[in-house]
Amino acid sequence: MKTALITGATRGIGNAIALHLKNEGFRVLGTATSSEGVSKLEEEGIEGLALDLNSAESKEKFWEQVEKKEVQISVLVNNAGITRDNIVLRMSEDEWLDIMNVNLNSAFYLSKKVLKMMLKLKWGRIINITSTSASIGNKGQSNYSAAKAGVEAFTKSLAREVGSRNITINSIAPGFIDTDMTQQNDGVNTDELIKEIPLGRFGKPDEVAHLASFLCSEEASYITGQIIHINGGLYM
Ligand code: NAP
Repeated sequence: MKTALITGATRGIGNAIALHLKNEGFRVLGTATSSEGVSKLEEEGIEGLALDLNSAESKEKFWEQVEKKEVQISVLVNNAGITRDNIVLRMSEDEWLDIMNVNLNSAFYLSKKVLKMMLKLKWGRIINITSTSASIGNKGQSNYSAAKAGVEAFTKSLAREVGSRNITINSIAPGFIDTDMTQQNDGVNTDELIKEIPLGRFGKPDEVAHLASFLCSEEASYITGQIIHINGGLYM
């Protein structure tokens, strides 16, 4: 049985991916920032682990817990992400750095950890969840867009480094997906946003999860270093 680790597995896109992979027969480890989140995951049949990607101490404790399980992780989905929107002139250094820690630095930290396992297994899949905003930018999201674009460049470089070891690295770049993240868009007119989407609606977490589970499969073994967009035509 293959083991997958999904960050930010409690809600939204990460939860949908975790449940899809569990249904496909993976052993799934999922992370949450709270003990309530860990319990929710356990109820869903996912092995819950506490992890705050904005805390060096939490990351260290988390990795100790993973090592205690003596698992060999062959799929990593770097999904956890946050926004701290502000225009650059008003953006604080903390708003910039929190975004870099959770959205960009975490991809480096966890990929490096699991790659050692994947090299032993001679098989691996890393999927980084980025965003359309990495390609087109977004007013008020310079921090988020820069972090996601950084993850996309990281995806391509790492794909070149480990391709010969049968390990693929890809990014999924969603447009607007119906999750807590898009519901907290204060002052944003959803009807106006939808007019910009050729398919005329937000996407569903499940639609992103189907793509992620395909990328984890044997059938996707010749796909690496790609940024795969899923956005209803918002960006093409
Ligand atoms: P969401 O519903 O807000 O869920 C965010 C997840 O990340 C939760 O599981 C949360 O855990 C976890 N998380 C938050 N802060 C964390 C931290 N400091 N350390 C570790 N985990 C943390 O978000 P979503 O919409 O599903 O987004 C998932 C990914 O897709 C993100 O990378 C996001 O940038 C990307 N994305 C989303 C959209 C969209 O339209 N929704 C579009 C493009 C890209 P808790 O539940 O414990 O807080």
